[in-house]
Amino acid sequence: MRTAYRCRAYPDAEQRAVLARTFGCVRLVWNRTLAERHARYAAERNGTSYAETDRALTAMKKDPDLAFLSEVSSVPLQQALRHQHKAFTAFFEKRARYPRFKSRAGRQSATYTRAAFRMKDGTLRLAKTSAPLAFVWTWPDVDVTSVDPTSVTVARDPAGRWFVTFHADVPDPVPLPATGESAGVDVGLTSFAALSTGEKIPHPKDWERHEKRLKRYQRRLARCKRGSANRAKARVKVARAHARVTDARRDFLHKASTGLVQRFDVIAVEDLNVSGMVRNRSLARAISCTGWAQFRSMLEYKAARCGRTVVAAGRWYPSSKTCSACGHLLAELSLKTRHWTCPSCGTRHDRDTNAAKNILAAGLAAGADGADACGGGVRRAGATPARPPVKQEPRPVREGNPRPLGRRGCQGCDIHPPADANRAGVGHNRDVRVYGESGVTPHGGEAT
Ligand SMILES: [Zn+2]
Repeated sequence: MRTAYRCRAYPDAEQRAVLARTFGCVRLVWNRTLAERHARYAAERNGTSYAETDRALTAMKKDPDLAFLSEVSSVPLQQALRHQHKAFTAFFEKRARYPRFKSRAGRQSATYTRAAFRMKDGTLRLAKTSAPLAFVWTWPDVDVTSVDPTSVTVARDPAGRWFVTFHADVPDPVPLPATGESAGVDVGLTSFAALSTGEKIPHPKDWERHEKRLKRYQRRLARCKRGSANRAKARVKVARAHARVTDARRDFLHKASTGLVQRFDVIAVEDLNVSGMVRNRSLARAISCTGWAQFRSMLEYKAARCGRTVVAAGRWYPSSKTCSACGHLLAELSLKTRHWTCPSCGTRHDRDTNAAKNILAAGLAAGADGADACGGGVRRAGATPARPPVKQEPRPVREGNPRPLGRRGCQGCDIHPPADANRAGVGHNRDVRVYGESGVTPHGGEAT
């Protein structure tokens, strides 16, 4: 299994200078290569392969105006090309947005492969620097001297904090003992999540406090004169406040997802269209704040590592409107209604707990069915081939326009009615994906 350890780094003055120059060169190589890709596509309608960008980098280094490129380690520059190539591949596979230009105000990073760093007895030495890089190891159960990273990334965030990330291949973790418990999770707005066991995970309270401070600093920044020293100071304050918000959020999501994975063998979640919901303005802030998508991906990779299963109930499955006791489907249920009584069996339901129970039932049914009869709408983790951990020669970026995704839904059969009919289907639970069975994350990539 491939994993990564990220920790705070404290470079000395010399290292800060070398790294700052390296960041600048990495950014320049990234931006020039991206601009050349644009120009070439606009002129010739042709994509650019990795080898072509590599040749362009060699030419850049020979340019007397860019002689400073040869003063920093060549490896991070090469890695910038690889990262951009990967970014385009992800874009063409519709996993990511179109790659953007890098700004000097954003996060800066440089990746070193084995040729450009030495890790011995827990000390790290980077190319072109003399002293070892100081960092704080924060995994008490992992011996730092035993870590043998394949690559190392040094980064500085806009708040001025330095980080070093060790990418390493480690033995597969031992699956956790089975607990015999399973749970459905309904993510909501009044509480962060409701479980089918009746428990609720409340929203963390301190986010609001952090956000208030962030807003105050942002107002202050907006009033500063552009290019002034006070503006630069205000910008650092905003960046620090941002960092505090994202750190608090990530901490909460990690604790919540680890708790679920430790307690339950099977975790059923709703397959939510989060980006579609953020487009709905009234709910946008609340939804993007809670970080559902991040929570979901944490659940999936942690489940895969611990031998747990995450199943996703279909997006159009009416989990809130169905009675979990008798299966009665309500015609209408407004978002405001927090409790309702089933007209058929008279059970009193808490909206979110009822939804979580239905999601669990849908997920378990999918697990018992095994594969979907049609093969449509179901994606099994095992079907995606895992990439070997060794470095591979990148494939050329596909030329021309992006191709539509290869995975097609069922085009209609006895079991799968056409798309519109799915919305009204009572207990329609065949539109279910199964993840986390064979230690592979949904995109077939490495869990990091
Ligand atoms: Zn009922």
